[in-house]
Amino acid sequence: MTLTIVKNATCTFCGCVCDDIELHAEGDRIVKAKNACSLGEAWFLHHTAERLYPDALIDGQPASLDAAVERAAEILDRADLPLVYGLSNITSEAQREAVLLAELAGGIVDSHTSL
Ligand code: SF4
Repeated sequence: MTLTIVKNATCTFCGCVCDDIELHAEGDRIVKAKNACSLGEAWFLHHTAERLYPDALIDGQPASLDAAVERAAEILDRADLPLVYGLSNITSEAQREAVLLAELAGGIVDSHTSL
């Protein structure tokens, strides 16, 4: 199997956002994450390019992304104080959008670190 090497990959697992990771992949599977800590290595090595899940779920059932966005908007519109929560394992750009969404919906933001 062909080995693919990606230099300067970014790990978004814990928030330190290490950007000097060298990934080695065989097919769809990452087999080595050089320079990653043990958490980052475990995170990378358990990801593949396979599509394991549908784009979206509504009430636990697969749904289109458009339908899911519509449903989310309905829920946010009815909420008294929406909580935008999580934000780990996502990019800075996605975090920025999440904060904007909370502002537009009159909600609040919290991250998993509050646990
Ligand atoms: S490599 Fe480790 S320290 Fe760096 S972002 Fe990933 S989990 Fe965090």
